Amino acid sequence: MDIILVVNAGSSSLKFEVLSVEGDLSKLLKGQMEGVGTAPRLCIKGIGGEILADHQHSPSEVPDLPAAMRLVGDWLRERHDGRLVAVGHRVVHGGPDNERAVLINEKVFADLERYVPLAPLHQPNNLAPIRAILRQRPDLPQVACFDTSFHRCHSAVADHYAIPERFYAEGVRRYGFHGLSYEYVASRLSELAPEIAGGRVLVAHLGSGASMCALLAGRSVESTFGFTALDGLPMSTRCGQIDPGVILYLLDQKGMRPDEVQDLLYKASGLKGLSGVGSDVRALLESPKSSAAFALEHFVHRIGLNAGMLAAALGGMDAFVFTAGIGENSPEMRKRIAVKLEWLGAKLDLERNARGDVLISTPDSQLRIYVVPTDEELMIARHTLATIGT
Ligand code: AMP
Repeated sequence: MDIILVVNAGSSSLKFEVLSVEGDLSKLLKGQMEGVGTAPRLCIKGIGGEILADHQHSPSEVPDLPAAMRLVGDWLRERHDGRLVAVGHRVVHGGPDNERAVLINEKVFADLERYVPLAPLHQPNNLAPIRAILRQRPDLPQVACFDTSFHRCHSAVADHYAIPERFYAEGVRRYGFHGLSYEYVASRLSELAPEIAGGRVLVAHLGSGASMCALLAGRSVESTFGFTALDGLPMSTRCGQIDPGVILYLLDQKGMRPDEVQDLLYKASGLKGLSGVGSDVRALLESPKSSAAFALEHFVHRIGLNAGMLAAALGGMDAFVFTAGIGENSPEMRKRIAVKLEWLGAKLDLERNARGDVLISTPDSQLRIYVVPTDEELMIARHTLATIGT
């Protein structure tokens, strides 16, 4: 059986899925090496949830992502009888020109390294397993699938910042991220509700990273994310939109170093920073602390404001779609957010919402509201297959 490996490498974890290429792409297993460099643990589950592997490793065995990639490769070779035909990678930044997934070679890899300064916390981690496989298996086709590609059709007006043009030319522009998720949701919506998918749709990807994307006939026209995945909505630990004057203040008046500001805005802000309780919405919903309730109120408020902004970009709105961890799993958060959409004609059906139906608005709601689980891995596998031309 021919198989594809999908890899999503983060700062200390390597997530992966294996899909069969036979017929339609179908998932065979998923796994994760977490605690890379500190307390590495490889956990692999079959598609029914059965545990196929659960190994603790020493930090010296798995000091970094390339080592994690090698271990996953070893496990697959020894324990899986599929023939690996390609590896598809999630790569956060494709720069201004990569409108689609690309087959990786040394030249492409060097090109992707140029975008490290644009995504310093993500890009190096995404590239590390690619480099490891290029060294070990140079013959194996690898495909980079970008979180930015889906947004490359934005107009220049949408993608500009109002700073001198030369910065745009050198790459300082609004890229937009979570593109693989939006692309999948757009394709799923066209199956579930084709008449709606052809119209004006706002998708809210609300997970530990959070953003929204305005879709016109299935194509992205605006996103809350900008130059980096720090902009837009407040997130689990990221600040979201912030006056650049605050950053100048932190640097000039507080004497903070750029790396300290970076840590503050990426890792200690958002729901975590505001609540002082934690970054997980489940914990905040259960917490008796008023700061936890405040953080959630702020989150919902910003989603409402940004929904208005993106409704303007679309010239009105036919549907609002929830996806990702919070959007898919929290009826309570969906309810709070739907209140902010009432002026756009939203009427939430409380029973459907509680059940987690696909369509959760009432029959007479002017704005349709959907819950569509995302599947970035499947999207990567589709791109990988299309790119290697099987
Ligand atoms: P993701 O990044 O898409 O995996 O989403 C992860 C986030 O989803 C977590 O940080 C949680 O805050 C949130 N989440 C997952 N399940 C629930 C739930 N049942 N209720 C509220 N939030 C949830």
